[in-house]
Amino acid sequence: MNYNKSKQAFSEAVNLMPGGVNSPVRAFKSVDMDPIFMERGKGSKIYDIDGNEYIDYVLSWGPLILGHANETVTGALNKAVLNGTSFGAPTELENKMAELVIERVPSIEMVRMVSSGTEATLAALRLARGFTGKNKILKFIGCYHGHSDSLLIKAGSGVATLGLPDSPGVPKGTAENTITVHYNDLDAVKLAFEQFGDDIAGVIVEPVAGNMGVVPPVEGFLEGLREITTKYGALLIFDEVMTGFRVGYNCAQGYFGITPDLTCLGKVIGGGLPVGAFGGRKDIMEHIAPSGPVYQAGTLSGNPLAMTGGYYTLSQLTPESYEYFNHLGDMLEAGLTEVFAKHNVPISINRAGSMIGFFLNEEKVTNFEIASKSDLKLFAAMYKEMANNGVFLPPSQFEGMFLSTEHTEADIKQTIDAFDKALLKVK
Ligand code: PLP
Repeated sequence: MNYNKSKQAFSEAVNLMPGGVNSPVRAFKSVDMDPIFMERGKGSKIYDIDGNEYIDYVLSWGPLILGHANETVTGALNKAVLNGTSFGAPTELENKMAELVIERVPSIEMVRMVSSGTEATLAALRLARGFTGKNKILKFIGCYHGHSDSLLIKAGSGVATLGLPDSPGVPKGTAENTITVHYNDLDAVKLAFEQFGDDIAGVIVEPVAGNMGVVPPVEGFLEGLREITTKYGALLIFDEVMTGFRVGYNCAQGYFGITPDLTCLGKVIGGGLPVGAFGGRKDIMEHIAPSGPVYQAGTLSGNPLAMTGGYYTLSQLTPESYEYFNHLGDMLEAGLTEVFAKHNVPISINRAGSMIGFFLNEEKVTNFEIASKSDLKLFAAMYKEMANNGVFLPPSQFEGMFLSTEHTEADIKQTIDAFDKALLKVK
């Protein structure tokens, strides 16, 4: 494939933006490539500025569950934009969106819209601290919850990829209030509570981790977190920014049947526009300003375009959408297993709804330590070949692939063939 225009655009971008990008993982550093600049997308396909076509498994890092440029969404957005882009006053669409989120997410009785996943988790932590009067937060190594100070500690994905376990600029005092333990390690959680339980405001967890590759919870893990947090009077916070409406029609909490106290949402609920949300038990949410004393606000929160994108995305999802994702996921998993075996390359695959992750490592991946054993060099080499074969994968071993309702069986077959060709070349 020819990437000349992308190369040119990137050479200009590096003088304009740090690293030439507006978010680190877009720099393609961990696959040792220059970024591919995109021009447009339609359905399951994305097109770069050199005119190359790819089957897209990044989907803007998750939001585009209906694929690119869904006509109902773009039609509604076209109409909405003519009425004005922001009012700084309530709109009826905010009520409709809140009703829909409350109806679909089992634990949410009241919700507040924000503009990103980072804002949602940051506000949820402040609320947990304000509500309980306690200071510490427990998070899991390799889980990413956005880039606020308390949470940028042993985070996965971009941070893992760039090899920055903690970021300079996060005050030591802040880090001291964040306890980290391995994902899926309930004994470590129990020990942390035995030691610090009186001062733990909440446990924040990705109910299926998606920022160290895809790592589902082992049996009993989420149930155990629910029990321990209840016992100690800490809040259980599900960060469903990635899993929300991806893992199931009623999010991961509906799929696993666990009710957290607070839930953070993002990505899919904006349908490709900047949206986040946090919500939960009414008695807790009423601590948020202006009903309560915990301050949180946003100039563009509940923005009419963002609400339109989200509302018309969620409205089109049905329980059958998730059956379809499972069907495509089964095909992809079977195809990957066969092709990797054929080339004698170890692989371990994890799936949850429309999230699918593979690690170049035979061991079953249940936490970040095991995920890190993946063959990153081989991943980078294979990545380039996959792009050359017209498949756009997330440019990091520590990210999962996403499916949309627009992906077809033909896309999956083409993807499996592309892996076959790529492995033949790089093995
Ligand atoms: N939480 C999770 C689980 C995420 O995956 C992300 C982003 O990838 C965030 C929070 C942060 O969301 P945003 O990038 O919208 O700030």
